[in-house]
Amino acid sequence: MIGIFGGTFDPIHYGHLRAALEAQALFGLTEVRLIPSAIPPHRDQPGANPTMRLQMLELAIQNQLGLIIDTCELDRPGPSYMVDTLRSLRQTNKGQPLLLFIGTDAFKHLKSWHQWQQLFDYAHIVVLTRPNFTHDGNDDFFAARQAKAITELAHSLAGKLYFQQITQLDISATAIRDMIAKQQNPSFLLPDSVINYIRQHKLYQRQ
Ligand code: ATP
Repeated sequence: MIGIFGGTFDPIHYGHLRAALEAQALFGLTEVRLIPSAIPPHRDQPGANPTMRLQMLELAIQNQLGLIIDTCELDRPGPSYMVDTLRSLRQTNKGQPLLLFIGTDAFKHLKSWHQWQQLFDYAHIVVLTRPNFTHDGNDDFFAARQAKAITELAHSLAGKLYFQQITQLDISATAIRDMIAKQQNPSFLLPDSVINYIRQHKLYQRQ
């Protein structure tokens, strides 16, 4: 099984990194592909340009076996639709189940994603939940797809929905950007190497 963790990573922080690492261990994955979006279609445009967001990702995952960066969305023109990314990963990994990891917040807006139902044609979706998170059990589309055990995911290439609780780290890139704009110290929320990069390039100085 191949893990996929998409995001703006503006900047990458320990919330992303810990989630990807726990996902890798819990699902026994040889790799989790971190996929930075070029032009995120569902949100404000990033504060750092794609090259800088990629360089921060590279600094953050140095020496971290199993976490790899996939630049497919940066290499593709136009909006970064996850459905296009999954379609192309499906073509290059024909016999492998794909697991798309998304956080609770992203799942809440899943139905606004471009061709969201087709995501399930190419991958399983694993929602990395916060403790005490409850999802809308009345949704027939999701209820029909929900897997109860990780082993179910290995038995098909795509199409299931699974909820996995992980360590709660209440860290967001928005909060980090706000802190930097207010000249507060974001240490211990993201790697020092990334903080140094942000300082060197004077990123996020305005809200
Ligand atoms: P922003 O605050 O700019 O919206 P973010 O911190 O939410 O950014 P994104 O790059 O938008 O980060 O998120 C990428 C993915 O990582 C999403 O699926 C999101 O749900 C997940 N994610 C972000 N922060 C956390 C966290 N602290 N714990 C678990 N998952 C997270």
